[in-house]
Amino acid sequence: MASETQAGPAGAALPLPPMKWDAWGDPALAKELSADIKGLLAAALGVTGDATPGPAADEIVLHPSRITADDLKALAAAVGETNVSAADADRLPRAGGKSTPDLLRRRSRDPQDAPDAVVLPGDEQEIAAVLALCAERRIAAVPFGGGTSVVGGLDPERGGLTAVISLDLRRLDRLHDLDETSGEAVLGAGLTGPAAEALLAERGYELGHYPQSFRYATLGGFAATRSSGQDSAGHGRFDEMVRGLRVVTPAGVLDLGRAPASAAGPDLRELFLGSEGTLGVITAVRLRVHPLPAVKAYEAWSLPDFATGSAALRAVEQAGTGPTVIRLSDEAETMVNLATTEQIGGAPAITGCLAVTVFEGTAEQVATRHRLTRDTLLAAGATSVGEAPARAWEHGRFNAPYLRDSLLSAGALCETLETAASWSRLPQLRTAVTEALTTALPGALVLCHISHVYPTGASLYFTVVAALGEDPLTRWAAAKRAAGDAIVTAGGTITHHHAVGADHRPWMSDEIGELGVRILRAVKAELDPAGILNPGKLIP
Ligand SMILES: Cc1cc2nc3c(=O)[nH]c(=O)nc-3n(C[C@H](O)[C@H](O)[C@H](O)COP(=O)(O)OP(=O)(O)OC[C@H]3O[C@@H](n4cnc5c(N)ncnc54)[C@H](O)[C@@H]3O)c2cc1C
Repeated sequence: MASETQAGPAGAALPLPPMKWDAWGDPALAKELSADIKGLLAAALGVTGDATPGPAADEIVLHPSRITADDLKALAAAVGETNVSAADADRLPRAGGKSTPDLLRRRSRDPQDAPDAVVLPGDEQEIAAVLALCAERRIAAVPFGGGTSVVGGLDPERGGLTAVISLDLRRLDRLHDLDETSGEAVLGAGLTGPAAEALLAERGYELGHYPQSFRYATLGGFAATRSSGQDSAGHGRFDEMVRGLRVVTPAGVLDLGRAPASAAGPDLRELFLGSEGTLGVITAVRLRVHPLPAVKAYEAWSLPDFATGSAALRAVEQAGTGPTVIRLSDEAETMVNLATTEQIGGAPAITGCLAVTVFEGTAEQVATRHRLTRDTLLAAGATSVGEAPARAWEHGRFNAPYLRDSLLSAGALCETLETAASWSRLPQLRTAVTEALTTALPGALVLCHISHVYPTGASLYFTVVAALGEDPLTRWAAAKRAAGDAIVTAGGTITHHHAVGADHRPWMSDEIGELGVRILRAVKAELDPAGILNPGKLIP
């Protein structure tokens, strides 16, 4: 392979995904580890190595493509010659998602798997034609949005078929309609978060879905994984924003969601929210949107310990005081954030656990929401530490993945996992997962925060940092297995927002039962009888 460019290897025939093939995001924004972080790594984990560069793209060896010249010709007839490629330079950036195991596998010098070809359809007719060809020629198809999956959702599995293609949906990038009267917008599934928000902002509207992967993930990906953004307390999860969906399946096209609410039987939108490319290709989403907020307010809080903090967040959510963002770091995460000062720059002395709140709306709404939330938090034992840490959190909120790249290069494994449970089960769940992780990875730092709240419960988001050591993929797989088992035993969900993919599939029958699995298989058999759509994901 030729030498790499900014986003990926040279020699590509197609537009490349905007992210570097072996790292997060834009390489120009890559972060050097600060002296503080290096000190922390050395003291806590004994990691003292300097960053070692991984292999260049031209050192990576892909297994040869299994697509035939005849298949390529047929695919080109469906979508146009300039939208199909079997070049290694196009295959490599779509070889998987962006979990830490994905990055380790990409950086390996051993031969690695990749889709056999990449296809960029431009509309629903082209997608239907590609799916028909795939069924006829026994080729698997993996829908590819922003490529940010962290659960193996993009693994190029052939599922016993002859080949696998990556169906890159970036050309579905239009604002189809904005209905200002109803507060709904119809947007193409291939739009990234920033592209969608820019189109809406031109008309004075906002979607308000800001996951940490916002800069690169797409609307189709958000729907297909039931994504949850950091503003979920105010704007809800992505699945709550979806009013309607268009889906192309091998069996035909579905246009779901007619009215704001309906009693016409089970809601079939729910089948495709979280379907992870296994049941159909989502081509457009009709979403609830709102006017851009006129005013924002920020306040951060110190809480003496996680239990007090957790009870304080519960009080706010159950009282419905209306913050747009509310999150709480545990003691360890707060301590690490203090050491990595970019996260909370210039904060006054903070002890215990840091909570962040942000408020949006009209001036009047913001004043009311802020006051009610403030009163509730103060009554629950919080101390205000001013607005600076909350503003700093917002400013740096999309940058943490760059830190993970630098940690990996310096010899530290950094990975995350998440779950959710009712408030009454949350303390046991946190203890069980922490114990599972620290037992499997002795000496690891395990950090936790409450990332999303609901009246009846909350999600827990864990970050694990350990020395990379020998065979990190096997060691992480063991830790992940232990954490997954602990989650199930403690009554949590195997995933609150990262989705199932290949990585959480072993726990799906624990999650929905054997009958639940049979229902999903039956739906799959009806919509995708040839089994071409994203084999090996979601459905056991
Ligand atoms: C650093 C980092 C931070 C993250 N932060 C968050 C977060 O805060 N909140 C959160 O919810 N998630 C987060 N994620 C996970 C990930 O970003 C989400 O799952 C996201 O929704 C995936 O969108 P995507 O467009 O990148 O989809 P992809 O990764 O391309 O695909 C994900 C899955 O959806 C399928 N798919 C994609 N598009 C379509 C479509 N149009 N039709 C049918 N199937 C499709 C794919 O086949 C795959 O199975 C994070 C990931 C990373 C790497």
